[in-house]
Amino acid sequence: ESFADMCLHPSIMKDIAYHGYTTPTSIQAQAMPVALSGRDLLGCAETGSGKTAAFAIPMIQHCLAQPPVQRGDGPLALVLAPTRELAQQIEKEVKAFSKSLESFRTAIVVGGTNIAEQRSELRAGVDVVVATPGRFIDHLQQGNTSVTRISFVVLDEADRMLDMGFEPQIREVMRNLSEKHQTLLFSATMPEEIEELAQEYLTNPVQVKV
Ligand code: AMP
Repeated sequence: ESFADMCLHPSIMKDIAYHGYTTPTSIQAQAMPVALSGRDLLGCAETGSGKTAAFAIPMIQHCLAQPPVQRGDGPLALVLAPTRELAQQIEKEVKAFSKSLESFRTAIVVGGTNIAEQRSELRAGVDVVVATPGRFIDHLQQGNTSVTRISFVVLDEADRMLDMGFEPQIREVMRNLSEKHQTLLFSATMPEEIEELAQEYLTNPVQVKV
């Protein structure tokens, strides 16, 4: 399947081309149609496979189908990642594929950076938040953002997040989401703990492996 077959928003198509992507990688060809169809996804893929675009592009397309975000609104989509470096990489990619969409906004919420700046960004209203779990929970507890409007969630490198002890924070987020949301879980390995998370938080997921 090519990007052109995926019925993507013309602005996204333009940004994909501008970013230099011509052919979907294996994970993209498998995962994107599933994610675009609204189904939950369990993806077994490593960094280097192109998994970031595989979730970022459907996530942007999902956001475009929602009522526009106003000041004070919580985000529409959330990506949780284990490290600040990975979160930064993901945000960069989300920005690249939403470049031509004028009012599309993203925020990065990671530890070790100015929390007040993040707070004002969040309060202004963003479409997508890319976060590490601990810092995202901090903002939730401070009332700087909310999960009520989130309808698209990505747990990226879930095995690493568990290794780093983020399971309670992940559960805290997942437990508070509204009924109607789509979840994508990516993990390089599938130990029992990941299978359990998937069992608990994914609904009838399509499994994709590269
Ligand atoms: P990722 O696994 O998402 O970290 O991506 C690994 C690398 O592959 C990154 O440098 C991407 O920019 C690149 N990449 C991902 N998808 C494509 C694609 N369809 N065509 C060319 N390069 C890609």
